[in-house]
Amino acid sequence: RKRQDGEMAALAAVTLGGRKLQLAANIGSPTDMAAALMQGAEGVGLFRSEFLFLGRDNPPGEEEQFAASKAVAAQCGKHLCIVRTMDAGGDKPLQYLHIAKEENPFLGWRAIRISLEQPDLFITQLKAILRAGVFGNVAIMLPMIISVAEITAAKACLEQAAAQLIDEGKPFAAKVPLGIMIETPAAAVTARELAAECDFFSIGTNDLVQYTLAVDRGNPAVSPLYSHFHPAVLRLIDGIVKAGHERGIWVGMCGEMAGDPLAAPLLAAMGLDELSMSAPAIPRVKAVIRKLHDREIEELLPKALSLQNAGDIRALMERFITANS
Ligand code: PEP
Ligand code: MG
Repeated sequence: RKRQDGEMAALAAVTLGGRKLQLAANIGSPTDMAAALMQGAEGVGLFRSEFLFLGRDNPPGEEEQFAASKAVAAQCGKHLCIVRTMDAGGDKPLQYLHIAKEENPFLGWRAIRISLEQPDLFITQLKAILRAGVFGNVAIMLPMIISVAEITAAKACLEQAAAQLIDEGKPFAAKVPLGIMIETPAAAVTARELAAECDFFSIGTNDLVQYTLAVDRGNPAVSPLYSHFHPAVLRLIDGIVKAGHERGIWVGMCGEMAGDPLAAPLLAAMGLDELSMSAPAIPRVKAVIRKLHDREIEELLPKALSLQNAGDIRALMERFITANS
């Protein structure tokens, strides 16, 4: 198995008909990079920057954040390194922000909502990422977006961050792509409008499934209901990819679904450009993609989308994978 994974690392994730998907890694800290590179990750599709913010008394400063992003960007080489701005709050509390106890933390003060209300914190983070851009191919990604207004406000902060760096005489990358996570039903439904305001999408299925199905992603009592094969989720994803492509931006995925080999044929058929996943999932997903016949997945997709139950769609995918491996 180890040897197989090693050989797989050097190969591209391309279907038999020549469809190429970028397989990137989800990481939580720079120390995850070694495992990602060993599995052949083509860059980082999700750097969960909040690891720097959690479990401490004060927020990290610009230098500390710069060092972390720089380390990751440099190891990505020519590939993209997508740094997601802080996605804390909700189930990941920050003592120094004194977040009031919330009845529904997943519907509360988290992620971009905190960043836009704490511009000093946000601009410090943006400055660190812009500076890291000098050492690699860095992109910025905003979590939990529900409206165009949030992107507009984030862009204003980005301009302030750049202006401060100029004043301070610190080198930074002037043209850093700005993408957003599509992980709320609001973002999925308004994807066309959002696509006009950013450079790429990455679909966060962990939250998109949770919010679309109204099923807490961490509650075992409802976990049988939690499935990325639910028809509502699949239709949203299909629509997000189409909306992004119509507006000329690339569309990736960084939720757990991206690392599910059973989902890979559908995601390839929908036209996802990039899948970002935990390092161990990369060879498994790649092995599936490399066996896909384009004609077969193009027939499979409408069939899957016509089914009414998550369980039936999952069973269809299991049969498909068994027949193709
Ligand atoms: C997601 O919601 O799918 C995602 C990738 O973000 P996180 O799991 O960090 O909420
Ligand atoms: Mg999320």
